[in-house]
Amino acid sequence: MSSIADNLGSVTRRIQKATKAAARADGSVNLLAVSKTRPPRDLREAAASGQRAFGENYLQEGLEKIEALADLPELEWHFIGPIQSNKTRAIAEHFQWVHSVDRLKIARRLSEQRPDNLPPLNVCLQVNVDNEDSKSGCRMEDLPELAAAVSKLPRLNLRGLMAIPDPDQPEDSLRDSFRALATALGRLNRQPDINGTLGTLSMGMSGDLELAIAEGATLVRVGTAIFGARDYGAGG
Ligand SMILES: *Cc1c(COP(=O)(O)O)cnc(C)c1O
Repeated sequence: MSSIADNLGSVTRRIQKATKAAARADGSVNLLAVSKTRPPRDLREAAASGQRAFGENYLQEGLEKIEALADLPELEWHFIGPIQSNKTRAIAEHFQWVHSVDRLKIARRLSEQRPDNLPPLNVCLQVNVDNEDSKSGCRMEDLPELAAAVSKLPRLNLRGLMAIPDPDQPEDSLRDSFRALATALGRLNRQPDINGTLGTLSMGMSGDLELAIAEGATLVRVGTAIFGARDYGAGG
């Protein structure tokens, strides 16, 4: 059995190798440790190895861990799960990043509810790149208008795009999905109301981070390869 510290080391090496293979600058890809279903002690172990950014999918669980680890103020908390309207206030109050904004109503609430004493909330727009009706994320064709509107909200800092393409699809179509998100980011950056301000491409997970980095990911969201297989049976 390998430890979280060992796993973090090998994920970091995978990221470095893929970054180099893509002829991209060292350090241009950040690692978000996806810690859903994991107890606070696992996050503490990762933090002791230098991991700072943690991603949580479920609000209540995330809030409990933020509180349990409040003695580590250097940690950065990212909300990456689906967002219901009644959850926006707690997200706006306790997280530094939200990757899963896919409609204006949610963005407006997050902006209105972001406390004045905190810096603007960093936001990525989640895009449904596979265009399956069942999944969350805005439609590609709605993105230009949504991004323009979100970029005007005073208490949000629009940073980029996020997608969760189905990791089990054939490699070619997975690559197409990552490429489509990268292309969308480039296109948005050429919109006058965005004007090159978006730098974050949140894509790639344990099984496909190399492919995502080859297509321009700047932030990979990795759970299993750091913490081991998740056990949802325990109530997570
Ligand atoms: C769970 C999750 C991940 C991490 O997936 P792994 O395959 O465990 O690395 C990344 N992003 C999102 C949005 C997730 O829900």
